[in-house]
Amino acid sequence: MIWTHRLFFLFLHIYPIFKSMQKRFYIETYGCQMNEYDSEILAGILQSHDFILSDSPEDADLILLNTCSVREHAEQKIHSRLGELKHLKDKRPDLKLGVIGCMAQNLKNDIIKSKPYVNLILGPDSYRHIDEYLDSEKKHIIDTKLSKYEVYNGLFPARKEGINAWISIMRGCNKFCSYCIVPYTRGRERSRSIESIVEEAQKSIDNGFAEITLLGQNVNSFDHEGRKFPELLRAIAKVDGLKRLRYTSPHPQDVDEELMRVHAEFKPLIANHIHLPLQAGSDNVLKAMNRTYTQEHYLKLVDMIRNFVPDMGITTDIIVGFPGETEEDFRETLKVMNYVKYNSAYTFKYSPRPYTKAWNMDDNVSEEDKSARLTELIALQKKHTLERYRDMIGKEVEILVEGRSKKSPEEMKGRTACNKIVIFPKLDYKPKDMIKRKITDAQGVSLFSRS
Ligand code: SAM
Ligand code: SF4
Repeated sequence: MIWTHRLFFLFLHIYPIFKSMQKRFYIETYGCQMNEYDSEILAGILQSHDFILSDSPEDADLILLNTCSVREHAEQKIHSRLGELKHLKDKRPDLKLGVIGCMAQNLKNDIIKSKPYVNLILGPDSYRHIDEYLDSEKKHIIDTKLSKYEVYNGLFPARKEGINAWISIMRGCNKFCSYCIVPYTRGRERSRSIESIVEEAQKSIDNGFAEITLLGQNVNSFDHEGRKFPELLRAIAKVDGLKRLRYTSPHPQDVDEELMRVHAEFKPLIANHIHLPLQAGSDNVLKAMNRTYTQEHYLKLVDMIRNFVPDMGITTDIIVGFPGETEEDFRETLKVMNYVKYNSAYTFKYSPRPYTKAWNMDDNVSEEDKSARLTELIALQKKHTLERYRDMIGKEVEILVEGRSKKSPEEMKGRTACNKIVIFPKLDYKPKDMIKRKITDAQGVSLFSRS
């Protein structure tokens, strides 16, 4: 008995010392949800090697910036962030600083040359063995090999608590849109097995998540040994305890009737929302972008989707000012927007990216025209978003409860299948409940259900 007590007190003294010896890591994530997921995978790997997650760079032994290269602006942000972090490196030379993800792939040599204090440069397929790189005494380590096979199977991401768990189901892209750097930074398409994805989905739900969002650069190009995306959706829909299933981003080329049949069959478990990137409305621009569809094909797709799921919320991505885009071409984009009336849209000015086909095209739309087009497009989208929100008033919707509303302790918030925030009275609802309520008002980007 005395010995057990002594051992216990010894443990109490040794444990804090052991803890203080453990290395701490800090990850800052930029760009898309795929990067968020990759950061969770990395956190899982590091924790399995006894690193502890830190929530500030000041007390970390390892700082990782998980980067994005899709637009030039995203890269500039990282350059200035590295400049800010340099003072930590000056104060603590043992601190390891890493640039990982798409920018590491794209700009490895530039980074090492202009910021020699960066120690680690890892591309998106090089995270599995990060612990070995961290053990190395070398001043600089660069691994940006792209893999035909790496899908991070068998690794479980260290997720923060919440409602939604992201699950990456495929990586890379074979589409080569002429403006896009992704095929060069993330390599060719490859998919995980359906079994491994279902296992991760079930584990996430068992760990307390209620919703799953499947991720991939072209999520619906999923193809594992001939088994396609609709089959995967059917398999995940059977996961015990799952309340809602989403996916992003599908490519219009691979959206077909079979996919919509699955939506209709598993409604409301599979959210009635599809992100359908348009990029441009003019056939000339779509062809130059290598988007593989015409305006007519895209609009027919929208009709087909609404035929199967009449209340499907559609969102999109649009680029203005692609090389050669005339005012008439731009009007075609507005025409499509007026037809579809998207729930929301991510809108971008064209940004030339190295390696891409469009890099060699004349970036001949002036900055002034790009800005004017973007402003007009955003104004039109605002009008459509408002109309879509107003349309909801009087309708009953399914809401996945998230938690307390920040504005009032008497109210809670949740999300509709179309990802809209709804505020409603607290009553006896709990987070992760799926409830049905009538929408009574719409203001800004929130819906209200107050009676
Ligand atoms: N795979 C998705 C698809 O096919 O639409 C999109 C993934 S991409 C990383 C995200 C969005 O960034 C694109 O839909 C596009 O609108 C935008 N984007 C990509 N490259 C761009 C560029 N060079 N300039 C401006 N926007 C760009
Ligand atoms: Fe980029 Fe096109 Fe691939 Fe989407 S489909 S990631 S826009 S190349």
